[in-house]
Amino acid sequence: MPNRTSTAASSSKFATMRIVIMGPPGVGKGTESERLIDMFGISHISTGAIFRDMFETDDPIGAIAKSYINRGELVPDDITNKIVRQRLSKQDPNQGFLFDGYPRNINQAEAFDVMLDDLNLTLDAVINISAPDELTIDRIAGRRVCSSCGAVYHVLHKKPNNEGVCDVCGAPLIQREDDMKETVRRRLKIYNDLTAPVIDHYKDKPFLHIIDGSGTMEDTHQAVMDALGVAP
Ligand SMILES: [Zn+2]
Repeated sequence: MPNRTSTAASSSKFATMRIVIMGPPGVGKGTESERLIDMFGISHISTGAIFRDMFETDDPIGAIAKSYINRGELVPDDITNKIVRQRLSKQDPNQGFLFDGYPRNINQAEAFDVMLDDLNLTLDAVINISAPDELTIDRIAGRRVCSSCGAVYHVLHKKPNNEGVCDVCGAPLIQREDDMKETVRRRLKIYNDLTAPVIDHYKDKPFLHIIDGSGTMEDTHQAVMDALGVAP
């Protein structure tokens, strides 16, 4: 990806930005997160990554979290909150961060407020990228993956040269279970049920930005830049 760091974006104002990003599967949240992290030089904090890091140490809370993950269960909120607090207390105050996947429900959002307060930190932006469910379902359900090398295609946006066949290695393309419409619908329902109260929690804050994610990735990015006040 080209380096789009602008003079405005690399100034200290953005390098210390504390951002929470939210959005349903298929809305382009991952791509936009990467761009913001690159542009501003801020830390990417995701609970998944913190868990993985902890598993490599003998941290006692990490061991508890691991026992849930190994059983295929969700890590309880109080443990997730403790882990986030631990990570946040190590954050360089001169470097901003982007939270991705946290807070994912109202309990976590309330605990997050308390820990930010305790650590004397304030949020600068909560970015919610949204799009109609049917649109994100179609985006995800169109994905095809090579059964051999893992190359990713899309039936509309990134067609292989020969239908159903990988351009790279010639193996058949498959649709992953996770990408099937019914699975995506279930994931969206869970996301919507959990996240609507989180959006509501921030609704009176001037730093909540609702971004339309139904256009192209570039449209989404421009809308985020406008919302954050990054000069073009
Ligand atoms: Zn392949």
